[in-house]
Order: sequence, then structure tokens, then C-alpha cells
Amino acid sequence: MILTAGPSITEKEISYVMDAVKNGWNFHHSDYNKKFAETLARYTGSKYCVPMASGTGAMHIGVLACGVKKGDEVIVPDMGYISASNAVEYMGAKPVFADVDEENWCLYPESVEKNITKKTKAIMPVWMYGSVPRMGELMEIAEKHGLKVVEDACPGLGALYRGRMAGSIGDAGTFSFQGAKTFVMGEGGALITSDDKVCELALSYHHNCRDPKRQFWHTDIGFMYTISNLQCAIGLAQVERAEELTEKKRRVFGWYRKRLEGVEFLSLNHEDKDTRNGYWMTSIVLNGKSPVKRDELRAKLLERKIDTRPFFYPISMFPMYRPLEKKNPVSYRVGLNGINLPSGVMLTEEQVDYVCSAVLEILGVKR
Ligand SMILES: *Cc1c(COP(=O)(O)O)cnc(C)c1O
Repeated sequence: MILTAGPSITEKEISYVMDAVKNGWNFHHSDYNKKFAETLARYTGSKYCVPMASGTGAMHIGVLACGVKKGDEVIVPDMGYISASNAVEYMGAKPVFADVDEENWCLYPESVEKNITKKTKAIMPVWMYGSVPRMGELMEIAEKHGLKVVEDACPGLGALYRGRMAGSIGDAGTFSFQGAKTFVMGEGGALITSDDKVCELALSYHHNCRDPKRQFWHTDIGFMYTISNLQCAIGLAQVERAEELTEKKRRVFGWYRKRLEGVEFLSLNHEDKDTRNGYWMTSIVLNGKSPVKRDELRAKLLERKIDTRPFFYPISMFPMYRPLEKKNPVSYRVGLNGINLPSGVMLTEEQVDYVCSAVLEILGVKR
């Protein structure tokens, strides 16, 4: 079976983990947390990094630290992952689902502006599958309306917008190191920010609001989102290899592009100029002309031992948001017709060739 994901684990990861498991206790219980945080902050050009148990937890803390409160509205893309809207809900705030761009599958300026009301407090651009949102314009809109920007860069580490790292552009940015991502810890996450106040709140709330000056004194009701030294040991090795792993993802995409670009039934991930897509998942979106529907294509690929994933569903489709107030047409079209193809870091060109031949054969395309 050719799987959709899979990490690259080298001697570096193994040696850090061996060191952490043997020595990472007592006075050394958070050595790797510190090194991981420093390395990720430096790599992303951010002042601070707070490692956390998951990307979702980091997003919860991100919206909290940016001041989202009960009754506020936060604009999130309809086609994204559930974490962004959940983070908003955890605060008693309301996620407002905005449509995504047809080409890069991300929140875009015009759709944000349409959804701004007096109650809007923040926006959460998602770096969908490593794609790059139009961050410059989104930041201008945020500034104009006094909104905070919490980037869901969970799948975006390694992607660049005009030379700036995913997650480092808004007031806070979040990453996931879940096992299927480009960079893995098994489960794990991180928040980055260059804002002193956001960092201070994140440090406090992600660890039960422990008072740094008074042992076991709690200053508010916080959350327990810390991550272990052991996981940060793997994470450190992965982040030290960030450019190498990003290049590997980009190479995989390049192999797919060579074989699938221009096929009339589908579109591939998009990359604007002045940006670097991280290509966490090489993906195709079938259009109305395709002779085969999404689920049929996935079933036929599975028969050929090719694992795929459906795109994330539009969040407004889930039972907790029914009945639908409105439909975001692009989110529904892309979300219901998109497929993540095998994109593991260790994939070979021969495997990509096999996958593409199967896709083309099932679609009846001769090349
Ligand atoms: C992976 C992912 C997340 C969730 O991260 P976890 O670490 O699993 O909580 C959130 N948003 C997007 C867009 C993702 O791809």
C-alpha cells in the first residue's frame, strides 16, 4: 500500500530521543522543550515559541491570548480543519464561515470583508495543505478594522509569503506536529508570536495559569496543553531539518505536476509568485467535467493499493452547524471534490509515477 503520509526519521531524531529518554529528567526535564522552542522561533523569525500538546490546543490558546471573548465573532474559512472553529467555540465566541479561494483553497480578502460585522474580533487564515493565503491584504484588512489575526499554519511550516514564514505574520501562528504532517512528533503543536503580551498569556494559560513566582499558585482557570521533553526531542530534530523536509515535499509535488498538470478534469495545488507552498499534501480537485466522481476515484485507487484522503469537509456541513445559514459555494465544491494523494516525505518518483498512471487510467486520459 502506498500511504498518504509518512515521516522521515533519521539518526538525528533517534539520537535526540535516546538522549531525552535516558537523561531528560529532573534538572533536564525540559531541555528539549527549550531547544525546540528556540529553534522554531529562530527558524520562523518570531520572538517567541510556546510548544504545546497539539495544534488545536495551540489555536485555542492563540485566540484566547489575542483577546477573543464570549459573544465575539471570528472569521474562519468554511473549508478548513475543525480546530479553528473549535478554538473559537471554546471561548464562547462564534465562528463565521467565509468562503475560500478557488485556486489556493485559503481564506481570501474579499470573502473576509463580506463577513465583517461590529462583533468581529479576529480572523483565522488557514495555510491549507501548505498553500499560502494572501497574507499582505489580509493583514491590511485586519489593521483597518482593528482585528487580530491568528494563523492556522498547522500544516504550513516551511511555506513562505514574500519571504516570511507561515505563522509569523499574524498576531499569533500555530503549528501541528501530528504524525501525518510534514514535521512530526506523533502528536504535538506550537504557538509562535512576536507579541510580548500574547506570549505571556500563552505561557500562563497553556499550563494551568501557574504563577511563575509562587509555586502551585494559580492565577486563573487555565488549560493543560504542555508537551513532553521526549516529544520535543523528535520535534527539534525535525525542525532542524525543516528546509530539507520542505524541499522533499516540494520535490514530490514536482513529480506529480510533471504528470498531472494540464489534465482537463482536475486542478492541483496552486503557488502564487512571491510565495513558497509547503505542499504538505499534493492534492487534486476534480471538476464538473471529470467522468469519475471523487469517491469512485478513491475506491479504484484503493483497489490498486493507493491510499488517499478526502479533503476536509466544509465545517458548516457538520451537524452542530445545521441548518445551514448560507452555503459557501467554493468551499463545498472544493471540499467535496478534493483528494489528497500519497504525499509522504519518503515517497519515491517511481511511486508517484505509479499513482499518476492509475489516476490517468481511471480518468481515461491518454498521455
Ligand atoms: C493538522 C491540522 C490541524 C490540527 O492539528 P492537531 O495537532 O491535530 O490538533 C489544524 N488545522 C489544520 C489546517 C491542519 O491541517
